[in-house]
Amino acid sequence: MPAKSFYVLKLKTVPAKYGLSKNIQDLLMALDHYHDGSIDAVELGRLVRLSRNRRASIANTIQKCAGLLKKSPEEITTCVDVIEMCTELLEIADRKPPMDGFPFMRLPVEIRERVLGLMIDNIFRTKSVIPASNKNGSCKCPRFDRDTVFQTAQMKDLACVFGSNLITLEFFRVFFREKTFRFRCTCELQSHLISNDMFLDNVRSIVVHWSGSESAKTFRLLAKMPKLESLGIVISKLTFIHLNERSALMKTYFPLAFKTIRIADVLGLDELLEIRGLHQVGVMLAPTSRGGSQSYKMDRANLLELLSSRLTQAKEDEDHDMELA
Ligand SMILES: [Zn+2]
Repeated sequence: MPAKSFYVLKLKTVPAKYGLSKNIQDLLMALDHYHDGSIDAVELGRLVRLSRNRRASIANTIQKCAGLLKKSPEEITTCVDVIEMCTELLEIADRKPPMDGFPFMRLPVEIRERVLGLMIDNIFRTKSVIPASNKNGSCKCPRFDRDTVFQTAQMKDLACVFGSNLITLEFFRVFFREKTFRFRCTCELQSHLISNDMFLDNVRSIVVHWSGSESAKTFRLLAKMPKLESLGIVISKLTFIHLNERSALMKTYFPLAFKTIRIADVLGLDELLEIRGLHQVGVMLAPTSRGGSQSYKMDRANLLELLSSRLTQAKEDEDHDMELA
């Protein structure tokens, strides 16, 4: 322990004798902690800057000691000690914080991913996440949910938190891999796939409400997602609004035949059936409040069977690789 310490001052009952304020006593104790290594300079600086009163208490104490020196010269040793401790506090508080921070990227990738995974679970406590609507991708599909979306404000601050683009990129890579992303319609999914390459390249699990005029184009994009493993299709009566090109043409000539729309006529089915290489496929009914209905139960079961039998087949290039291997 250095000769000058708050501990020694307390033994000599200096705080009471000099009438030291609570603020300066806290800071002097923190200075002791800094000297014994239990806090670092950054933390000590933060404690000094915590409030204006704390900083002012340092100047007041110096002034007080200077006054005491004049009145009682025998206090010189103690007064000088206190003044020196106060100036040391000021010097540490005014140090620029080190900019380089913790060398996160030098950790092994498994540990980095684990740390980022913990952060992600801390921000998003649910397994599935609803991305905020893209402004440029707004469509006319009805919005049923007041869903709490993607916490955009937090996400926007990430770059500042990390202070490095590399870590931000890695964060998103892990994020897109670990969560299930739910979309209210295929147009919304499409706008995210088009505007965010990293999303398209990394997402493993998607749930989408099969509705909207962009289903065919969107499902074609799904087939190009390299990491997609799990796909959930939600159907409702909205699913049956948009017909594929051929059925739409036929309907104009044979309107009676299309009085009841079959799922085979729906826009996007052909493209959906081209997707390969998935591990898991699900078909869900939208709750009735969101345009679902009991009468689609049959369609749900049959569509699940159809998709499961095809979408989980190996991709063609994978077959090719296997032959070569
Ligand atoms: Zn839409």
